[in-house]
Amino acid sequence: MNILVINTGSSSLKYQLIDMKDETVLAKGLCDRIGLEHAFLKQTGIGKETVVIEKDMYNHKIAMQEVVNALIDEKIGVIKSMDEIAAVGHRVVHGGEEFHDSVIIDGNVMKAIKDCVELAPLHNPPNIVGIEACQQIMPNIPMIAVFDTAFHQTLPRHAYIYPLPFEIYEKYKLRKYGFHGTSHKYVAQRAAALMGKPIEELKLISCHLGNGASICAVKNGKSIETSMGFTPLQGLCMGTRSGTIDPAVISYLMEKEKMTLKDVSDFLNKKSGVLGVSGISSDFRDVQSAAEAGNERALLALDIFCYRVKRFIGDYAAILNGIDAVIFTAGIGENNDLVRGKILKDMDYLGICIDMEKNKIRGQEIDISVSDAKVRTLIIPTNEELAIARETLKLVQ
Ligand code: ADP
Repeated sequence: MNILVINTGSSSLKYQLIDMKDETVLAKGLCDRIGLEHAFLKQTGIGKETVVIEKDMYNHKIAMQEVVNALIDEKIGVIKSMDEIAAVGHRVVHGGEEFHDSVIIDGNVMKAIKDCVELAPLHNPPNIVGIEACQQIMPNIPMIAVFDTAFHQTLPRHAYIYPLPFEIYEKYKLRKYGFHGTSHKYVAQRAAALMGKPIEELKLISCHLGNGASICAVKNGKSIETSMGFTPLQGLCMGTRSGTIDPAVISYLMEKEKMTLKDVSDFLNKKSGVLGVSGISSDFRDVQSAAEAGNERALLALDIFCYRVKRFIGDYAAILNGIDAVIFTAGIGENNDLVRGKILKDMDYLGICIDMEKNKIRGQEIDISVSDAKVRTLIIPTNEELAIARETLKLVQ
């Protein structure tokens, strides 16, 4: 059974076609610059060369049709017809309080996803456009929505309610939601499998460290705390996001720098974090090279990033009352041994102790702790597409 996984952004559409018999990726690709000049589709089919096709794509429906054309194309395609796609799994960023799990998309679900637009004005609209485009091109194929927020709907109330006047929560559903849920859930399940223990008996801390970064405390298979909040701005220092700061900074900046609300939002979301402190880049490879060449602000940016991750691990160790494993995933978590080393240095009090040689290994599932460490430290490459495909399979079966 083949499942198509779709992840739509405002001008892009990423896809993977996965054969669920053995979870082989038959094809993966991207439509980029949708609605803009010089749009293109890039696809890599199993056993085939990567192709880039330049093609005007005025909207996501046209892009979706191009995806289907590319998948069934005699030369570059991997299937004979659309009938070989059993179901489509869509990544949807925000499911609000409505969705605690993945769902089959029907009229009511679409309405509820649209109701969440207010909570995620940048992210949900392109997801909705992607689903509607897909429904038009493949009207008879079941579609599933998999939400970034769903895994965190198990947070207890005292974790998700902000200490603001309660009416604000009632009026706007203004609360912590958390994101990256599909990734945290996937790596937590993989961790349990690697450790050979039921997830229901484990206390895990999952560190998803990419351009966007978040941490999640997983107790007995359920998310009980996570670092992102009402929006992805809360929590860790990230590539371009500040993460948690004193909220009074906002009014101070507005006054002193004559910033508008939009300016402040751009400042905190796009110009801060590792980019803002280093003044060099949001990409850790660039920042690390600069730090190694003696650039002090680059080094400071890395130190701030690692320090904040370390603090959250301590925080979550307290909430969980102990840790069985700490998991590192996403671009930085999987590949950057320097960052992992800095974060985990001097954490033996908590039972975390890594083998520096094993820590050099990147991008594969591995336990990097010393053999007698009380807490396992695991690198687990995330695979959100496969996680979405599995959720989709579960629901259509
Ligand atoms: P996102 O999906 O949030 O855009 P990623 O998970 O791709 O982000 O992470 C991007 C970060 O990961 C960058 O800072 C980059 O330096 C780092 N990264 C990604 N791949 C590698 C790699 N192979 N080696 C070292 N660092 C990497």
